[in-house]
Amino acid sequence: MTLLDGKKLNEKVAGELAAKIKKLDPKPKLVIIQVGDLAQSNAYIGRKIKFGEKIGAIVEHKRFPEKITQEELIGHIKIYDQNSSVHGIIVQMPLPKHIDKDAIIDAIDPAKDVDGLTSRNLKLLWENKTTNYSSSERRESRSSRQARTINAGFIPATTKGIISLLDEYKIPIEGQNVVIVGRSFLVGKPTFLAFLNRNATVTVCHRHTKNLAQITKSADILVFAAGKPNLIGKEHVSKNQVVIDVGINAIPNEDGPRHKLVGDVNFAEVSKIVKAISPVPGGAGPMTVASLFENLLEAHRYQNNS
Ligand code: NAD
Repeated sequence: MTLLDGKKLNEKVAGELAAKIKKLDPKPKLVIIQVGDLAQSNAYIGRKIKFGEKIGAIVEHKRFPEKITQEELIGHIKIYDQNSSVHGIIVQMPLPKHIDKDAIIDAIDPAKDVDGLTSRNLKLLWENKTTNYSSSERRESRSSRQARTINAGFIPATTKGIISLLDEYKIPIEGQNVVIVGRSFLVGKPTFLAFLNRNATVTVCHRHTKNLAQITKSADILVFAAGKPNLIGKEHVSKNQVVIDVGINAIPNEDGPRHKLVGDVNFAEVSKIVKAISPVPGGAGPMTVASLFENLLEAHRYQNNS
């Protein structure tokens, strides 16, 4: 069994990004907008700040009170949109109920939308026009790169991280049968599109799917993003499969700290059967953070025409 080590790849990407940033002036700057003070959001933001510091990027964390109005929040985002020293803007989800998340996301300039969630970037993902270029495309001339800027979208960070992890371990995607469990705006749907864009045959399962095990057993690559601990056991998998566990679930811990993090997969059971699997923690999670900063560097490159 191969362990798809997202922590190790996160460190490799960090080294590559740090080397690039060293040569950049101005330094890439990310603004993280948070509304309220949710403990889980604080933990996610903390990881992004730490990674940003490690690679030499500038990260500004702007926290607004829970009672901020939608109009006020949009006003703040517009100021960051117009500030040329800011290259990327993300809004930490979830937002309070009185704020329409779509209106907030679409207030972000698509050129700074490094989470890839604005309508424009999602449309570009839908059309397979994203920054996920092959190495031959990366060698294109400066002028064609500038022309492309207008039409290139960012792949949402979690999705990009999943694909990068598979690429790192040279797991083929083209022509493979991929089953994704979860169809959320944030993970399931963009991941479906990214695999389709890489010429996979993709099935998306969700809460209403019948005979889940029958469908998952026949896949070559499985992606689990349901947010249900132990949803996937030995009855759902077969040998020669590759499993990416995106789930992050806090469950009570009898020995040690109060909670521990687990994925959607019963790792002990499933890892004995499949060919390759990503652990939780240490799989998709660290790749999400690394991919966000890869997008930030792309945004910086576009905005500086470098
Ligand atoms: P969500 O709640 O928005 O969506 C969950 C999806 O799973 C839904 O489409 C639902 O239909 C499906 N689902 C739920 N129960 C199911 C079941 N029993 N059988 C089949 N499908 C089922 O969640 P989300 O925002 O997509 O996040 C999913 C998980 O991924 C969570 O655990 C979240 O913490 C984690 N996550 C991880 C990262 C990362 O960086 N690794 C990023 C985002 C989310």
